[in-house]
Amino acid sequence: MSDSYDLLLAGGTVLNPATSLNQKLDVGVANGRVAAMQANLPRANATRVLDASGCYVTPGLIDFHVHSYWGVNPYGCNLDALCLATGVTTTMDAGSAGPVNFLGFRKLVNETSKTRMLGFVALAQHGVLNEPGELVNLGFADSDGAAQTIGDNRDIGVGIKVRLHKKSIGENSRAALRLAIKAGEVTRTPIMVHVGDTAISMSEIAETLRPGDIITHCYTPQRPSIIDEKGKLLPEVRKAKGRGVIFDVGHAGGHFDFDLVRRAMGDGLLPDVISSDLHGRLKQPGFGIVGDLPTTLTKFLPLGLNLEEIIARCTINPARVIGWQDRIGSLEVGREADIAVLKIIDEPTTLRDSVGAEWRVHHRIAARWTIRAGEVFQGKG
Ligand SMILES: [Zn+2]
Repeated sequence: MSDSYDLLLAGGTVLNPATSLNQKLDVGVANGRVAAMQANLPRANATRVLDASGCYVTPGLIDFHVHSYWGVNPYGCNLDALCLATGVTTTMDAGSAGPVNFLGFRKLVNETSKTRMLGFVALAQHGVLNEPGELVNLGFADSDGAAQTIGDNRDIGVGIKVRLHKKSIGENSRAALRLAIKAGEVTRTPIMVHVGDTAISMSEIAETLRPGDIITHCYTPQRPSIIDEKGKLLPEVRKAKGRGVIFDVGHAGGHFDFDLVRRAMGDGLLPDVISSDLHGRLKQPGFGIVGDLPTTLTKFLPLGLNLEEIIARCTINPARVIGWQDRIGSLEVGREADIAVLKIIDEPTTLRDSVGAEWRVHHRIAARWTIRAGEVFQGKG
């Protein structure tokens, strides 16, 4: 190779689940794109060399559920710096903006962030609200407007969001679910459904969703749950998984129960996507029990997933859910250089869940560097 590189990631193990690649390779970046992936690329040809030995070089991570519409939405927070310190190069905002204010999301969040910030458009006109909830009055649901908003914003609007818990929607969940699916059908995009404390059953929700639609907070300890009293997966949930309904973690403060996750995974329900649900109402310092996406990913090591399985669930899997697999989620020559350089740090770590359980583990996943379109950001790990 006689090409020169702006950046050379040297000596790391490239882990790219999309192409089943798990191999020691150097990665050369030029003009913001991946220019070469092969062993022993010449360092002399690189403007900058990062020593990635002992690290895993993966596609830039995708955090599929966050709330990034800060200064406007009550759940919003400014996540750009945290993403770039934690290997995250793309986020999906989960309905902080609806038809009336998605343009603001574009102008204030998407256009100003270094992280690629995409969004699910809320069925509710103004996005998700705290109290009163956004669809307690169903008159605020706007299926046509949400569909129109996706149509007008195909480059950043990836699907429809609806929350079905009683606090946000009262008794309107069945009607709202139908309206969200209608918008999803018109736009041929998935809908993301928030579960936990819903007035309708988990079985009904699971049976109503189309292949490709998303249940977020899939391991919430709030009822109705995906498992029954005996800890077994509901038959309708198993069928939905088989039909291709997507199960997303959406950790947040209240939706992760180690014991429930263990039981559900043991009975066949592995997550399709692992996301943090970082939002501005997590008032504890450092986002409390969530921490960040790498901390959320770390929780799946003691739950039995290997690193490759975990990385798939925050790279190529979420990319496929929104139909962006040709653009993001895979590390390949010619693509935009969105890269995470991760390390498994040997260090006693306490992991916490939403119901007060603590797990002591000896490893944690952390980011050394994040590369977004070729630009390098120092990791906090
Ligand atoms: Zn959320």
